Amino acid sequence: MERVYIGLGSNLAEPRQQLRGALQALAELPQSSLAAVSSLYASDPLGPADQPRYINAVAALDTDLAPLKLLDALQRIELAQGRERKAERWGPRTLDLDILLFGDRLIDEPRLKVPHYHMQARAFVLYPLAEIAPGELVFADGRRLADLLTACPFSGLERLSSDSVTATVTNVTRR
Ligand code: ATP
Ligand code: MG
Ligand code: MG
Repeated sequence: MERVYIGLGSNLAEPRQQLRGALQALAELPQSSLAAVSSLYASDPLGPADQPRYINAVAALDTDLAPLKLLDALQRIELAQGRERKAERWGPRTLDLDILLFGDRLIDEPRLKVPHYHMQARAFVLYPLAEIAPGELVFADGRRLADLLTACPFSGLERLSSDSVTATVTNVTRR
């Protein structure tokens, strides 16, 4: 089993329900077990500003799936929840599931780059990740999560207190 961290985001069609559905789908993936889920966060959108704020979280999944098989599965979950691929980059979406880290692998394939290329600049990724990852986490490329957090202000981000979404996912360690 390898420990994978997955970033979840939604800003359309009841974002909390979208995350709830996605977490349930992650919990049901074959050869995998959902190990932990962060709190939910609200964040200002990247890219076009004329879209609703996002709800974000990070999940830890232990899996025996190969990286591209996991990506296929995540894209199926996105499509099942109504994700439409539009020309506009970073436009509004019902669900985004990004592979942030995959064990200690460095992956550079056309469809999959890991660590996720932009996570160092994204508070909505780093802060929820820090809730469920070991404090001394070091990425496969040698960067330390603690250093990235220090360099990334907690701005445009709001930690949401309610855990009613993650509470519905069974057998998961919650924070
Ligand atoms: P961003 O990547 O900046 O967060 P996005 O999540 O909106 O933007 P998508 O439209 O969801 O981008 O994905 C575009 C493509 O990125 C996907 O088709 C996928 O093949 C590729 N991709 C590369 N690396 C990853 C990764 N680590 N996790 C998920 N998708 C990835
Ligand atoms: Mg994304
Ligand atoms: Mg994506």
